[in-house]
Amino acid sequence: MKPTPTVEKAEIEAQIAVMRQIKLNNKEGAKALVETYGCQQNVNDSERLKGMLAEMGYTMTESRDEADIILMNTCAVRDNAEQRVFGNLGALKHLKEKKPELIIGICGCMPQQAAVAERIKAKYRHVDLIFGTHALYRFPSLLAEAIEHRSRIVDIDGEGRIAEGLPTLHDGGAKAFVSIMYGCNNFCSYCVVPYVRGRERSRSADDVLTEIRSLVDSGVKEVMLLGQNVNSYGNDRGETDAFARLLRQVNEIDGLERIRFMSSHPKDISDELIKTMAECPKICHQLHLPLQSGSDRVLKDMNRRYTSGRYLEIVERARELMPDLSLTTDIIVGFPSEERSDFEATLDVLRKARCDSIFSFIFSPREGTPAAKMESRATDEEKSAWFQEMLDVQNAISAELNAAYEGKIQEILVEGPSKHEPDMLMGRNYANKIVNFKGDNSLKDKLIKVKITKTQTWVLYGELVE
Ligand code: SAM
Ligand code: SF4
Repeated sequence: MKPTPTVEKAEIEAQIAVMRQIKLNNKEGAKALVETYGCQQNVNDSERLKGMLAEMGYTMTESRDEADIILMNTCAVRDNAEQRVFGNLGALKHLKEKKPELIIGICGCMPQQAAVAERIKAKYRHVDLIFGTHALYRFPSLLAEAIEHRSRIVDIDGEGRIAEGLPTLHDGGAKAFVSIMYGCNNFCSYCVVPYVRGRERSRSADDVLTEIRSLVDSGVKEVMLLGQNVNSYGNDRGETDAFARLLRQVNEIDGLERIRFMSSHPKDISDELIKTMAECPKICHQLHLPLQSGSDRVLKDMNRRYTSGRYLEIVERARELMPDLSLTTDIIVGFPSEERSDFEATLDVLRKARCDSIFSFIFSPREGTPAAKMESRATDEEKSAWFQEMLDVQNAISAELNAAYEGKIQEILVEGPSKHEPDMLMGRNYANKIVNFKGDNSLKDKLIKVKITKTQTWVLYGELVE
C-alpha cells in the first residue's frame, strides 16, 4: 500500500510565510472576489482560497468592479459549466483594460486539463494566474510571483496531495462542508473527475475530527462530509469500512447536531454503513446515491460496476432500517449507447426507487474520456424529449412524497430569509428539504420546530411551533 501523498509541513509553512509577506505589502482595504462553479467540493476549495486571501490581508467582496483580485474556481464536469466560465472570462477583459493592476486568476478543474489551459493561455491574455486543483495549496506563492513579476504564472503540474494546516474561511453559517477525501479511482467512462482531481486520497480521521470540532466551536451545527465516493474513504490506506467508523466518531462530537455526506457510490456501499446511519442519531436519514442509468447494459458501458437490481436492493435495505429515508440520485440522459428501451429501464427504476428528488443531466462528451469517443444512438431531440419525460415522472413522485409531510412537525435548521420569498425564513429538515415559514431573522442558524401546512414539488411551507 502506497502512503497517502501529503504536502510536507515545511512546504505549508513556506506558504504561510508568503501569506504574511503579501499581507505586509498589501494595500489598505484590498478586496478579493472568488467565483465558484460546480460541486460542493469546489465550494469547499473556494473556502480554502478565501481563507488564504484573508490571511494575505484581503477582504471578500461580491463586486467585480471593487475587486483587486478575481479568482474563478472552475468545474469541468459538463460543457455548459465550461462555456459559462469562458463567457465570464471574456467579460473580464474590459475590466482589466480599465484597471491594469487587477489580478485575474482561473483555477480548479478546467485548467487542470492541459488542452483547456492551452486555450486559456492563447485566447485570454488578460488572465494572470492559471493553476489546477493540484496546485491549490501553492496559491500564495503563485500570487506572490504574479504580483512581483507582473507576468503570467501557470501551474498545472504535479499530482494531487493532501495539504493540511492551511486557513479556511468558512462562510456557511451553522452549516459547513468538510472534505474527507479527494480524487477518484472509479473512471466512470463519461467522467472527467479522475483526470482533473487525481487518485483517491483520504485525510486522516484525526485531521477530519479536529476540523469538525473547531467548526463546532465556531457555531457550526451541521456538517456535510464530502468526497467523490465517501464509501471508499480509507481504502487508499488499506482500511475497510473506515467511513462507517469515521461517522461513528463524528457522531460523538459534542455540540454537533446533524451529519450528512455525499456522494455514495452504489458499488461500495456496505451494510455496515447503512446500519451506522440507522444507529447514529446525528446522521440524517438522507442518502444521495447516484444511479446514472437504470439499464444494466448502459451501466456496464458507463463502467459503474453495479446493476439496477443491486441498486434497488440497497434502497430496500436502507428503507428497512430507516423507513423515513430520504433518497436522492443523479441520472445521465443520452449516454451514447442509450436507446429508448434503456431510457425506459431508467424510468422503471425511478418509479420503484421513489427518490425524493433527482439531479439530471444530458450527457456531455468530455475530451479524453472513453464515452466521448462513442457514437451516439439517440438524436439531440430525442434526448431532450426523454429528459423532459423523466422530469415529469419524477416531479409527480417528488410532489407525492412531499405531500406526506403535511401536518407533520419537523426540526428545521434555519438558514435565513428565503431567496424567492424574502418575507419568509428558509431552513431545511433532516431530509434536506427546503421549508419556508414566517419568523424572525433572529432564528437564523438555530434548530427550531415547524409544522408543515402546505407542500409543493420543491418546497414545504410551515408554521413555527416553538
Ligand atoms: N462522484 C460522484 C458520483 O459518482 O456520484 C459524482 C460527481 S459528478 C461531479 C456529479 C454528477 O455529474 C455525476 O453523478 C453525473 O450524473 C454527472 N456527470 C458526470 N460526468 C458527466 C457528463 N460527462 N455528462 C453529463 N453528466 C455528467
Ligand atoms: Fe466521476 Fe464516477 Fe468518480 Fe463519480 S465515481 S467522480 S461519476 S468517475
